[in-house]
Amino acid sequence: MRFFFGPKTHENKGTQPISQKMDTAPVTCPTCFEQFHVPLPYPDEVPSEVDYDCEICCRPMVVSFELEDDEVVAWARGIHE
Ligand SMILES: [Zn+2]
Repeated sequence: MRFFFGPKTHENKGTQPISQKMDTAPVTCPTCFEQFHVPLPYPDEVPSEVDYDCEICCRPMVVSFELEDDEVVAWARGIHE
């Protein structure tokens, strides 16, 4: 599943729009169990891991990205696990 954010403009009609779309994926914070969205890396940068601070409780976590059926999936785990 892909998510598209931002206003859709049609100013680039006839030209290939620059790939500036920001895909995000929901992850669940391992500390407060609230769900929020993280921006996804490009598929050719996957698998990867990034340190992330929860947007709700600001605790650090590690978000892992992997490729699953050509879709980038993300999940979070506690940094001390
Ligand atoms: Zn949290």
